[in-house]
Order: sequence, then structure tokens, then C-alpha cells
Amino acid sequence: MGKVTGFLEIDRQVAKYQTASDRIRHFREFTIPMSDAEVQKQAARCMDCGIPFCHGDTGCPVHNQIPDWNDLVYNGNWKEAIRNLHSTNNFPEFTGRVCPAPCEDGCTLNLEDIPVTIKTIEQAIADKAYEMGFIVPQPATVKTGKRVAVIGSGPAGMAAAQQLARAGHDVHVYERESKPGGLLRYGIPDFKMEKNFIDRRVEQMQGEGVTFHCCFNVGLDITVEKLLAEHDAVLYCGGSETPREAGIPGVELGGVHDAMPYLVQQNRRVGRENIESVAWPSDPILAGGKHVVVVGGGDTASDCVGTAFRQGAVRVTQLDIRPRPPEKEDKMAVWPFWPSKMRTSSSQAEGAVREFQVGTLEFVGEDGHLTGVKCVQVDEKRHPIAGTEFIIKADLAFIAIGFRGPMEEGVLSELGEKLTINTDRRGSKNVVANTDDYKTSVDKLWSAGDVRRGQSLVVWAIREGRQAARAIDEALMGKTVLPR
Ligand SMILES: Cc1cc2nc3c(=O)[nH]c(=O)nc-3n(C[C@H](O)[C@H](O)[C@H](O)COP(=O)(O)OP(=O)(O)OC[C@H]3O[C@@H](n4cnc5c(N)ncnc54)[C@H](O)[C@@H]3O)c2cc1C
Ligand code: SF4
Repeated sequence: MGKVTGFLEIDRQVAKYQTASDRIRHFREFTIPMSDAEVQKQAARCMDCGIPFCHGDTGCPVHNQIPDWNDLVYNGNWKEAIRNLHSTNNFPEFTGRVCPAPCEDGCTLNLEDIPVTIKTIEQAIADKAYEMGFIVPQPATVKTGKRVAVIGSGPAGMAAAQQLARAGHDVHVYERESKPGGLLRYGIPDFKMEKNFIDRRVEQMQGEGVTFHCCFNVGLDITVEKLLAEHDAVLYCGGSETPREAGIPGVELGGVHDAMPYLVQQNRRVGRENIESVAWPSDPILAGGKHVVVVGGGDTASDCVGTAFRQGAVRVTQLDIRPRPPEKEDKMAVWPFWPSKMRTSSSQAEGAVREFQVGTLEFVGEDGHLTGVKCVQVDEKRHPIAGTEFIIKADLAFIAIGFRGPMEEGVLSELGEKLTINTDRRGSKNVVANTDDYKTSVDKLWSAGDVRRGQSLVVWAIREGRQAARAIDEALMGKTVLPR
């Protein structure tokens, strides 16, 4: 374990941020990295618990061996730390930046609200490994002669492609957009994760023999049927990007938008690309000098808030229909599981006005353009409370209330009823495949990531990509050494 008495001697420290007034002036990452010595001290706090809840099902979805690499970092063995981390996670520099870190909620020290700063240590291991030149292509020494196509280059597709190439298969990734990365590149803003980290991984994967075919919308530019005919296996990792419909009157007014075109557009702007994406064609949407209202309480809503501040919004209000969560969870009731408690994202901390238990009744406007959002207080069952209606001034509103499932146009429209889709109570539609073999109802077609499980997290997409790769390798070769 790290230092036997570390948790008694060393205080928890998290990486610091640039001040809000500085960071909203740019779109770059704003976390101030800790020194190696500080990271090593934080790793020394790990108690190497008999049952490490951080690493098990209650914590990290890819089962990172957290106590092991904490010990390696404490002892300055960065090379072995990245080797260990890579054995469970292909892209720790992604998760070290954007994961909500359920591992830290599961940490035993979280019983005292002072968990090990696991996520920061994970990021530091990956960043240090790049700095020291430890991350290089690892091409397979023996080729299998099998060809595998992966549809979609988000974290699920990338993780699967890397695993499959390392198992010796000839892997081809087909991506609708102009660059690989999926929501990591076009959904998540640069201030949470800069995109050069994706480019570096793409280069590594190309060195391992993965071929990326961008600007191919499978189902439209090339058929699934052709991919199935030309490959031994096809893995569909197309994500879950269809926005949930709000059904709020007034959505047709100028100034009311879904969150995705707004975020995609800004990511493309920062990436010096044309702002028009294949999936999200749109006129420029800019928040400078505007009163902005964001409807929704999740990650996507929060990213709209941070983006609007950076574009120079005058005021940003975020509406959440859920009750305000408690400041602190009842540890004895929920630990080591992910608790519902008040969380304030860095974007919200930049000055957002947050309203809880508020329903959105209508977008109101003049001459076809939004002027305000009509709201109402709701009770705990989300029923409107009569007489509590109010209007928030708004020139721009974003709807960020979640996602319904994969885009219909493309793979789904081509395969039609051959591909079994699961529709749930809330109208979500996901591709049916289990987590043992990830096989769909179509022969030779597997599926993983958000397209299968619904909009989720980067770390879950990596887990599913890795597990699907193993299932495919086993199906093609009769056996596999890839980890689950
Ligand atoms: C705004 C936003 C912020 C988020 N923030 C976080 C966060 O901070 N932390 C976190 O852990 N998670 C976050 N998430 C969730 C996370 O990004 C996703 O769960 C994750 O990216 C899913 O990975 P995936 O590979 O399954 O799908 P995606 O990342 O959606 O990738 C799917 C890819 O498939 C491509 N594709 C789809 N159809 C076709 C086709 N027919 N032909 C070719 N290509 C196709 C798409 O263009 C896309 O590149 C966020 C999501 C959003 C929308
Ligand atoms: S991937 Fe997420 S849950 Fe796993 S160790 Fe990293 S921060 Fe924690």
C-alpha cells in the first residue's frame, strides 16, 4: 500500500482551477496540474482496503486497480503505474479528465468526506506517461487475417478498435463526422477536455494498424450490408444522440435550440472546423450579450452553461425540475454507492443561477423570437403549483433534457426491423444486445456503448467497447486472451 500512515498524516487535496473570471475568457482546460510530488503524496493516502470499493462494481466501471497504482505512484514507478492502468482502461487521460469519479464516492475515506483524489491521480499517470514517452503503438505481432469494421469512433468504438487491432485483426473504423472521437470531440467542450488527447490516441491506434474512414455515414454513404459482406464482424458503436422531445409550446421560436447543435458548433469552432456538422447542421448560435436559459439539470445542460459564459452571456439561468438535493448524503444509507447530493459543476460555479423544482410551461416571444421562458414551481411529484407561474427574460434557450436513442437515419433506417430495438417507458430506443456477447439480432453485427445502453458515461463506453472486442475476438477465433 501507499504509505501506511499516509491517510492519517496527509490532507486530501484536489487540483486547483483558474479563477472563474480568468477561465471564462478562453475555451482551454483550466485545471492547474499538481506537481509530481503532490500527486505522490495524495497517492500515499490510499489505505489499500481489504475490499476496495473504489475498484469493484460499486466504484469504477472499468475496474481500474486503483490501490495498486496508488502504491506505484507513491513509490515513483510511473512506468508500471501506466502499464497497470492500461490493463483495464485504454484511455485514462480521457476518464482522468471527464469521469464523474464514482470511485471516489466508493472510497472508504469518503466516509469522512476525504476520499483519495483518484481521478486526479489517474490523469497524472496518463499525462506523465506521455511526457516520459511510455505511450507508443503496440502493434500485434501475429495477424489473424480477420477483418472487423467498427461503426462510430466515440470512446466505445475507439476502445473496441484498439483491443481488436492488438488481438491481430485488421480493423476499419467508419465515422460519420470529419474527425474521430464522438461526443468526446464534438459534445464535451474543450474546457473539460482538449482534443489533442484524442488526436494522440488516434495516431497511436493508426500505428497499431487501425484505419479510420471519416465522413462515412454508414447506412447512407456506405451500406451496412456491404460492411457485413466485406468483414468477418461489424461492431455498431453509433452513440445515442437523438434529443428527448420537450413538448414545450413555443419551441419553434427563433432563439430556442436543442443543446447538441450549440455544443457541436462551438467545439467545431474551437477545432477550427466548419461549424456545420453532418448530424447537426445549423446557423451560428452565439450567446454573447444575451440572457440565456438552459432547461435541464445534467452534464449537457452544464456544458451549455459553461459555453454560454465563455461566449459572453449576460446571465445564465439553469432550470432543474428535480428538487434541490441535500448538501450532504447520509453515508450510512448510501455509501459506497453513488449518492444523490448537491453537486456544483465548474461551469455552474462560473455564475449560473440555478432554479430547482421548476417546470417549463412555455417559450414566449415577439415577432417570432424568444423573449422569455414561462415557468412554474412544481411539487415533489412534479405537479405544477397553482399561482407560482413566473417568466424569466431570455433571448436564447437551450433544451438539454436527455437523449432518446440513436439517430434514426443511417444504420437503423437501413436495417429496419431486422435490428431489434428496445423501447422503454420514457420512449428511449436502444439496440438490443446483452453484456455477455454484445450480439445483435443481425448476423455478424455486434453493438456496444450508448447505442446499446442509452446515453451514459465515457467510462461505461470504454468498458463496453473492451468487452465487445473480447466477445468478437472469441467468436472469430474460438478463444481469446482479451480481458473483459
Ligand atoms: C454534451 C455532453 C457532455 C457529456 N459530458 C460527459 C462527461 O463529462 N463525462 C462523461 O463520462 N460522459 C459525458 N457525456 C457522455 C459521453 O460523452 C457518452 O456517454 C460517450 O461519449 C458515449 O460513447 P459512445 O462511443 O457510445 O458514443 P458517442 O461518443 O456518441 O460516439 C458515437 C459515434 O458514432 C458516430 N456515428 C453514429 N452513427 C453513425 C453512422 N451511421 N455512421 C458512422 N458513424 C456514426 C457518431 O458520429 C459518433 O462519432 C456527455 C455527453 C454529452 C452529450
Ligand atoms: S475511470 Fe472514473 S471511476 Fe474509474 S478510476 Fe477513473 S475516475 Fe474513477
